[in-house]
Amino acid sequence: MAQFRFKALEEVLNRIPDEFIREENLVSDYYGMMVFDKAKMKKYLSREAYKAVTDAIEKGTIVDRKMADQVAQGMKAWAIENGATHYTHWFHPLTDGTAEKHDAFIVHGADGGVIESFSGNLLSQQEPDASSFPSGGIRQTFEARGYTAWDPTSPAFISETTLTIPTIFISFTGEALDYKTPLLRALNVVNKAATDVCHYFDKNVTSVQANLGWEQEYFLIDEALYMARPDLVLTGRTLMGHSSSKDQQLDDHYFSSIPTRANRFMQDVENEAYKLGIPVKTRHNEVAPNQFEFAPIYEEANLANDHNQLMMDIMQKIARRHKFRILFHEKPFAGINGSGKHNNWSLETNTGVNVYKPGKNPKSNLQFLTFVINTLQAVYEGQDLLRASILTASNSHRLGANEAPPSILSVFLGTEVSKMLDLMEEAVVDRKMTPDEKTALKLNIGRIPEIILDNTDRNRTSPFAFTGNRFEFRAVGSTANNASALIVLNTLVASQLKKFKVAVDKLIEKDVKKDEAIFQVLKGLIISSKPIRFNGDGYSEEWVKEAAKRGLTNVRNVPESLAAYMRPESKELFETLGIFNESELRGRVEVEYEKFIMKIQIESRVLADIAINHIVPTAVEYQTMLLENVKNLKAVFSEKEFNSLAEGRLELIREVGKHVSVIKLKRKEMTNARAEANVIEDLIEKAKAYDSTVRPFLEEIRGHIDKLELIVDNEKWPLPKYRELLFVR
Ligand code: ADP
Ligand code: MG
Repeated sequence: MAQFRFKALEEVLNRIPDEFIREENLVSDYYGMMVFDKAKMKKYLSREAYKAVTDAIEKGTIVDRKMADQVAQGMKAWAIENGATHYTHWFHPLTDGTAEKHDAFIVHGADGGVIESFSGNLLSQQEPDASSFPSGGIRQTFEARGYTAWDPTSPAFISETTLTIPTIFISFTGEALDYKTPLLRALNVVNKAATDVCHYFDKNVTSVQANLGWEQEYFLIDEALYMARPDLVLTGRTLMGHSSSKDQQLDDHYFSSIPTRANRFMQDVENEAYKLGIPVKTRHNEVAPNQFEFAPIYEEANLANDHNQLMMDIMQKIARRHKFRILFHEKPFAGINGSGKHNNWSLETNTGVNVYKPGKNPKSNLQFLTFVINTLQAVYEGQDLLRASILTASNSHRLGANEAPPSILSVFLGTEVSKMLDLMEEAVVDRKMTPDEKTALKLNIGRIPEIILDNTDRNRTSPFAFTGNRFEFRAVGSTANNASALIVLNTLVASQLKKFKVAVDKLIEKDVKKDEAIFQVLKGLIISSKPIRFNGDGYSEEWVKEAAKRGLTNVRNVPESLAAYMRPESKELFETLGIFNESELRGRVEVEYEKFIMKIQIESRVLADIAINHIVPTAVEYQTMLLENVKNLKAVFSEKEFNSLAEGRLELIREVGKHVSVIKLKRKEMTNARAEANVIEDLIEKAKAYDSTVRPFLEEIRGHIDKLELIVDNEKWPLPKYRELLFVR
């Protein structure tokens, strides 16, 4: 059995880094060549069709069918010229990844042959076979059909030979079955709410867009070694494996040069990404061996998220070209760092102002403080929802593991902004402020920029950190669709901004001056949101205690965390803002519970299979070898000599025997636990049962396998070991 492992190792040692050729010398010469962007639209569309699409992008207007027909003709002409033969509606179902079904452009022509054809109808709407995508029961209760609809705000692109059209995916009754639909809704709502608040400071603002800059962490594993690990192939993580004597202790991977094979892979990925208009900017080694990161320049959030999904897809495809496999899993290896996908998020006005960037005068700084303080309050009130948006079966291995954000939500502001808030809290008094008091406060507010620019302190242990001109939501998992977190974040902030505006307007109605009304409401929010502010070490034991004292929640298990979505106040939040109606919310949460159950179920089955069919036979074979050896010793030596010579062997034989028995027993118990959980009707109860009765066996059985790995002859061990997966390249 160990043959597979050794053959794989041999293959890896013979690898030669792949050559790779960049499309053009200058990236700027080919960036976006496969995207139907504004420049191409200008060339291929009539003036009115061009305006219809750009209005849809900038003002959210609808492209009517007549215009859609024109756009479709232009798109088709461009796509065919660039080698496309097919088109597809591309969407983000609630499973991992994206979905597409390719159709050829051909239709029957008049003379019995075929011609290439595409229409506004096909561009605007299609009906994919939706039945196999999860909906959490939405489709059963309403209509079986679902359809995809063109999202003109994210440009079409050519992937290999297919014109790919970003779309939303909804049920026949208009309910969202995907990630994009509610994301677009949430972005709309935050746009409206933030624009209204910006009007206190600048009447020229007509829209506010949310930006996202994601940082994608991942592991690269050689294909041959990957294939010799059924757990990696089937679950994306190692379900067993003793830690390597050396892993990340020396930080030598992080600080060394990128290995050549990995570097070639990265250049190849970037080349494809640039053709598709993905502004990949940064590539580097991460902390764990064979762990890396890509980060682009930030973009409008919906586009950035499409690009992240596309990027994950490209990475997987190109990895194969270089005989690698990508691990996106949040925790592929026990004992070393896992992977996240930090979401850098900000709001920017159409006038080009980032509201999270301190300005140059008291007025723009008051706007800055307004948004920071409202965000604090939003995160404080929404801590459970934010956690629910990112906590999954796989990410739960990472959160709270002292290498990733803790499972307690808190916001890091840095000392300077914190001081500013403290100062404001003190300076704003409950009575009408005197002109002198106001002037003094404004003077102080005006001073922020130099302070912040000089003090870009960072806190890597915070799940939600202010980083000078944006917030970084660091708890998002590396496999995640960012939309899940962004829907909740933007909804929470929108809701809070709306409340803020109501409160300020109320005071203004009572003849309080605008700036003073803003001061007063902000002061209230500074006080109420105080528990969420934490600049210290988020990994420490003291913080867990302190957070409990502050009344912050600390939830590490997925079923409990997901329950936050179904609280009455959550339902109300999503419903009033038009993000999810009740059935959409319920459907979505059901899908999450199902995914959780399925992931644990698969892991449990895979582990049982490997334990019984790979590990136990290997251990028994080794034990038999030891027994033979003991028998031979006995035949040759006197009893006294035998006793001393065989002592160690006998001990090993017993130890192997013990681990094998426990593995078999626990395997049986785990199967029983699964059987018991499987008959539970209620989905939430079933998920809880999987979490509390099945999941613990994974750790327990693994413990015994890892012990065996240390005992059994290396020549016999069937699975590539951690040191091989992480260091042989
Ligand atoms: P670090 O590792 O220090 O957090 P990186 O350079 O790896 O920084 O990633 C930072 C990410 O934040 C990039 O994607 C970058 O484009 C993004 N970013 C920078 N400014 C903003 C902003 N105003 N809004 C959103 N994202 C931003
Ligand atoms: Mg980074």
